[in-house]
Amino acid sequence: MSQICLVTGASRGIGKAIALELATQGHTVIGTGTSPASAENVTTDLRAARAQGRGAVLDVNDLQQIESVVNEITDEFGPISVLVNNAGVTEDNLLMRMKPSQWEKTLNTNLAAVFALTKLCLKGMTKARYGRIINLSSVVGATGNAGQTNYAASKAGLIGFTKSLALEIASRGITVNAVAPGFIDTDMTSALVEEQRSKLLEAIPLARLGRAEDISKAVAFLVSDDASYITGQVLHVNGGMHMSS
Ligand code: NAP
Repeated sequence: MSQICLVTGASRGIGKAIALELATQGHTVIGTGTSPASAENVTTDLRAARAQGRGAVLDVNDLQQIESVVNEITDEFGPISVLVNNAGVTEDNLLMRMKPSQWEKTLNTNLAAVFALTKLCLKGMTKARYGRIINLSSVVGATGNAGQTNYAASKAGLIGFTKSLALEIASRGITVNAVAPGFIDTDMTSALVEEQRSKLLEAIPLARLGRAEDISKAVAFLVSDDASYITGQVLHVNGGMHMSS
């Protein structure tokens, strides 16, 4: 069945691939970017894919904007039935040198905003007794990573959030899962210098960085009817970097 999907951070990288994959599967997709230009890029991408939906401007740290985007989507397309919490940032530093602003920006964008947006979307989902929520975690939320205490804490926090919410709302027909990517070739990882990159490749059994499409296919599976009996899980998509029990 065709769903109304909200994908945050859909202007680039993994979010863009998720938006296009869901659109290809016949869903209506609203994908967000932080500026009018990046939202327009989403609209252009969706039109090129002949998809239903559009881009929308959203800074997930702006509570008022979250509220108006959810209301606008509901008025225009109907209640949101699929929420993909993908928007995320890194502000890497060793803890000894980390500024409070780096800690706050990362925790607010990657974790606190997910609380606010999910809570708003739950109203429509509980009424419909149907919903799919997918949170983008990270391999480093499970393994830790030097220089990323803030990012790893936010991504580990998302895992606890995912499992707890899954327990709370399973009886309403809503599933909540996380996808934990390894190292994926996007703007977020393009800052790696060649030496870091080759060291990283040594740690990836499948010997390549992931592609955004490796993640979007996993998200689309969790959205599909084939995944209706899966909730509270973390799907690791990392080329074998970390094999969780
Ligand atoms: P990316 O290429 O850096 O793109 C980030 C996206 O998030 C952009 O669309 C950006 O919008 C949006 N965004 C940034 N700050 C935002 C804010 N305050 N409010 C709303 N949107 C905001 O990132 P990516 O690599 O595709 O990563 C996507 C998700 O996967 C993130 O949650 C990331 O932590 C997770 N992840 C990525 C990797 C990886 O290796 N790439 C690994 C594990 C997990 P604008 O274009 O408007 O700036």
